[in-house]
Amino acid sequence: MPESPYLSLRQVRKDFGAFTALDGIDLDLPAGELVCFLGPSGCGKTTLLRIIAGLEVQSSGQVWQNGRDISALPPAQRDYGIVFQSYALFPNLTVAANVAYGLSGSMDKARIAARVDELLTLVGLPGSERKYPAQLSGGQQQRIALARALATSPSLLLLDEPLSALDAIVRVHLRKEIRALQRKLGLTTIMVTHDQDEALSMADRIVVMNQGVIEQVGTPMEIYRTPATPFVAEFVGKVNRLPAVAEGGHWFRCGPLRLQCTQGAEFRPGRPVTLYLRPEDRRMIDVAADDPGRCTGVVRGIEFLGGNCLAELEVEGLRDAEGQPLPLYLQFSLNQMDEFGVRLGQPLPFALRADRV
Ligand code: ATP
Repeated sequence: MPESPYLSLRQVRKDFGAFTALDGIDLDLPAGELVCFLGPSGCGKTTLLRIIAGLEVQSSGQVWQNGRDISALPPAQRDYGIVFQSYALFPNLTVAANVAYGLSGSMDKARIAARVDELLTLVGLPGSERKYPAQLSGGQQQRIALARALATSPSLLLLDEPLSALDAIVRVHLRKEIRALQRKLGLTTIMVTHDQDEALSMADRIVVMNQGVIEQVGTPMEIYRTPATPFVAEFVGKVNRLPAVAEGGHWFRCGPLRLQCTQGAEFRPGRPVTLYLRPEDRRMIDVAADDPGRCTGVVRGIEFLGGNCLAELEVEGLRDAEGQPLPLYLQFSLNQMDEFGVRLGQPLPFALRADRV
């Protein structure tokens, strides 16, 4: 993180009556990054974005932008552009008039037209000035909304679930375009999303939120590889949640599995712990017969995920905290499925990568 953050939130709190939507948020964000606020529905991410925009007033706490306390400024006096989930274009205005909406005051007509032309080119829709929103697809409308948000050259772009109303193909396409545009302009951008793939694929930094608090701030890799809390481990990506018992040193037993977890603390023998392990963190090729981590399961299900598969294994003696059989999920590429003989109903020897627990 650089010397002075571009945006700082200090103990931001928001109560709606007796309900606390945000509970003392502290956050520093550097300039020039694309940051995603990620979390389940109702966690407070939209409320936080709206407080940064001045569209919602915090119950207490401060917002600083570029060294300036903007906590009490009305939206019009803040420096940002915003795009909402519903395109929020004026249906009775042309594309040009929509994009120029925030410009009118200070510029003459020719300069406005030149700026609109420049913005439409930037978002990949040159020449669409005279069209009306209803003549455009959802993805095109959202690009117009983006052009409008960028019209006044704000130093901060706020995106509130801008892609969630679009179909999957357009969404993935626009992700790339927004990311490319953000990089090109070096524009500090905050995007609210509940879609972990979106956050992992687009963000420089992810702020994971849950029930009005921040669970973790980190790069996509940090969030995925070293989740700070059980919530983050389970919300971002697939994970095996294994109830285990400490055996002293770094050893743990989880039913038939014995794992030497080199990372993390030592626990008193007999203490119950929960281990989290990603489905790809397993070893196959070099599992020797006398490997203490070696185990065998039976493949009970195979889920195709594009180039990868998630195999559901039934492992004798592996049980959850309630004593119910606990399926173990291991991930393989399609090629590895053949290589390791991952087939429905067949036994599969494996070992877990305890160093990744
Ligand atoms: P979603 O993705 O569903 O929009 P979110 O994480 O963005 O979720 P917020 O919209 O920030 O969540 O809402 C956080 C909580 O605050 C929710 O429980 C919501 O019901 C509540 N809330 C938001 N706005 C108001 C309001 N004006 N009055 C009362 N409660 C509100």
